Amino acid sequence: MTAGMAGPASPAERPLPTPTGGRQAVAFCLAALIFCIDTLAGIKVALAVLYVLVLVIAGDRLGRRRLIIWSLGCAALTLLSFTIVHARHPGIDPVLRLIISLGANIITSGLLLHREEMDRRVRQEGQRYENVLNALAVAVWEHDFRPVEAAIAAVRAAGITDLRAYLNAHPDFVAEARAMVRITDVNDRALDLMGVPTKQAFFQRLSDFLPDNDDSFLECILAIDERRDMFQAETQVIAAHGEPIDIIVAFSLSPGKPLDRVPGSILDIRQRKHLEMTVERARFELDEVQRTAAVGAMSASIAHEINQPLAAIQGFASAAARWLDRDPPDIREARDSLAGLNRAVENVYEVMQRVRNLVANARGETAPLNLHALVRDAVTLAGRDAGAHGAKIIFASSAADLIILGDRILLKQLLLNLITNAFQAMEPLPPGDRLVEIDLSLTVTDARVTLRDRGPGLAGSGREKPFEPFFTTKRGGMGLGLSICRSIVELHDGRIALANHPEGGLEVTLTLPAEA
Ligand code: ADP
Repeated sequence: MTAGMAGPASPAERPLPTPTGGRQAVAFCLAALIFCIDTLAGIKVALAVLYVLVLVIAGDRLGRRRLIIWSLGCAALTLLSFTIVHARHPGIDPVLRLIISLGANIITSGLLLHREEMDRRVRQEGQRYENVLNALAVAVWEHDFRPVEAAIAAVRAAGITDLRAYLNAHPDFVAEARAMVRITDVNDRALDLMGVPTKQAFFQRLSDFLPDNDDSFLECILAIDERRDMFQAETQVIAAHGEPIDIIVAFSLSPGKPLDRVPGSILDIRQRKHLEMTVERARFELDEVQRTAAVGAMSASIAHEINQPLAAIQGFASAAARWLDRDPPDIREARDSLAGLNRAVENVYEVMQRVRNLVANARGETAPLNLHALVRDAVTLAGRDAGAHGAKIIFASSAADLIILGDRILLKQLLLNLITNAFQAMEPLPPGDRLVEIDLSLTVTDARVTLRDRGPGLAGSGREKPFEPFFTTKRGGMGLGLSICRSIVELHDGRIALANHPEGGLEVTLTLPAEA
């Protein structure tokens, strides 16, 4: 079935070894030799029994018809010898020897024919399996997980009891285990999916097409260890032409099932991912529009609300100036005017406080969140933009299970804002240099996300007031992104800091309280 694949061949895929001319010649010579000795040497033993050797040498997987011809040939030589030597004086001994020789011939031929039949059935089953495999609507590739099982056994033998903790602490072990998994067979759908023309050209090992940043294989090792009935993971594979493909892989590792050929069903979920991304993007854009509209409305209402107190402040200030300009100055009246001015200023503060309360009430739902998954989602979401900006995002995390309390949408928006700023800052660079590195880690009590780009960093006045609302150096910029980011972080009782990295680029550090 997979003539060119490195995996172990099933009986079905074992090609029929056609008997070589050499073997046929050897069998022929042996038959001639037995015939000569049997006929001419006058040895009184059932020498013709040795024809079974001829049958074994010549008849191994020869095919039913040719095997019968060889068998009849050997029987004919046995009878011919008997006729030449014993036809005139047939005794009981020679006849017995003849019967034994012919009996051995019949039994050997029968066994060889039986084996031929078994082989044929196995081949048929194999063919049926291959037909079924190729008729499936999903891609399938088979894994040989035995080396991984052996590696797990070695780790267990070394006294490791918490395998998950061990794998988290030893990513190199996970990478090595992944490189041990051979692909032993694939169906036609898998060839189409991965853009490989033939089975022979298909990837030999799992690590040949599973990207380095894959985090599904760690769970797969645990599933092998636990011999789970069902293992399912969402991940990405890299096709032959380099395109990343989002897939769901599922297979069974039930106890008792051999691990040498574990078929995995592969579902291409690019379409679904694309849809999800479009919906997310639409939501993000809608949020932006709503935010812009809200900012506009808020600005209008602030302007309207504080217009009156401002006019009053101006009036009180001019009145105070006029009272002071009098000769002699009327200090009492001036003081009254300044008191009025003070009240008007307090009025402005009250308006500002009302606006603040309004914004604070708009905070969304807070729930426990896996920050690792959230950052990964944001990175995936920003993936398309990255392509459009010719930039690359690298996400590294040493805290896969880190939980924080927060609003998923707001936090995702925060990350997307920062990533978008990074892309925009790197626009002057050549595409190969546009890199965003995101790192997630856990300090004693806090989750820390750092996001570093390779852009010019903050310069001039930007260093002092990047968070100031309406501060922007971009044409068409609103100067609200960072101030909104800071509000989101503060809503989560966290901190945000910007600093130029010593090796270039801006580094944003977010600190958020981690859940115990
Ligand atoms: P906007 O993106 O609309 O300008 P922001 O509040 O997001 O608003 O950013 C304010 C300013 O901070 C930007 O105009 C830019 O000058 C600076 N800035 C933000 N992010 C970066 C960055 N990654 N690298 C360099 N400068 C940045």
